[in-house]
Amino acid sequence: MPELPEVETVRKGLEKKLKNFIISEIEIIRPSTIAFPDNKDEFLKGLNNSLIDKWSRRGKYLIANLKKYSDNNTLDSNGYLIIHLRMTGHFNWLKRTNSPCKHTRVRFFDSKENELRFIDVRSFGQIWWIKEGLDPKKIIKGLGSLGPEPFSKDFNYVYLKKEFSKRTKSIKAVLLDQRIIAGIGNIYADESLFEAGISPFREAKTIKKRELIKLRISIMDVLEKSIGSGGTTFSDFRNIEGLNGNYSMQANVYKRTGEKCKRCSNLIQRKKITGRSTHWCSNCQK
Ligand SMILES: [Zn+2]
Repeated sequence: MPELPEVETVRKGLEKKLKNFIISEIEIIRPSTIAFPDNKDEFLKGLNNSLIDKWSRRGKYLIANLKKYSDNNTLDSNGYLIIHLRMTGHFNWLKRTNSPCKHTRVRFFDSKENELRFIDVRSFGQIWWIKEGLDPKKIIKGLGSLGPEPFSKDFNYVYLKKEFSKRTKSIKAVLLDQRIIAGIGNIYADESLFEAGISPFREAKTIKKRELIKLRISIMDVLEKSIGSGGTTFSDFRNIEGLNGNYSMQANVYKRTGEKCKRCSNLIQRKKITGRSTHWCSNCQK
């Protein structure tokens, strides 16, 4: 599943390719991909002639600011196009002449024969159009309840201490909880805990001050490194040009079960925590 670095990589790609992209036509191949509004005609009409002005990211959500020319020719705000890739969703930037593949869900065209295609094998990905005047955080529950971004000033020791000290769940489960920290999934939770030398099975509230300070830095380091590598090569992740990143070359524990720890040569182990495969070194992580 794409996590913060992968979504950030997609965001950068969209920003680069979609300069001055004006939606002139949309083809919805799988209606259930459109999560909001319920009325698909409203989606089509509302987005028609919209200029995609700017891309941002919040947690694993991609957010496009839209603009549209009004009747008296002023460029007004036209709400937001919001996308969650979930398990296997990804975008492709193509020429319109490419016929859609089997897993194509939605196609956005401009008037210059370009296509932004949303492809999703597992079909859990979602797209919303939140029109001007509506609050995206109220309509998209997951967006409204997100915890702080790992690179924001709200992601600090005092905040983490407060959240961790009231939780008896494992530290791994807490890191995966988007309401506590936005954007971390299985890969970067495992890698951050390795960097910080903390066992994923520890109760969150038992993490000491020194460890928490180290974990905070490890999370930022691991995410930053992966963004720099264009995300991972794991699963179905692709950037909008169809390429995957190379962070997995640098992974210390994730998907390295039975291989030697790069620090101590102990074998990397794997066990499930709240249904998610967890990889760790029992010698380096206490
Ligand atoms: Zn080790």
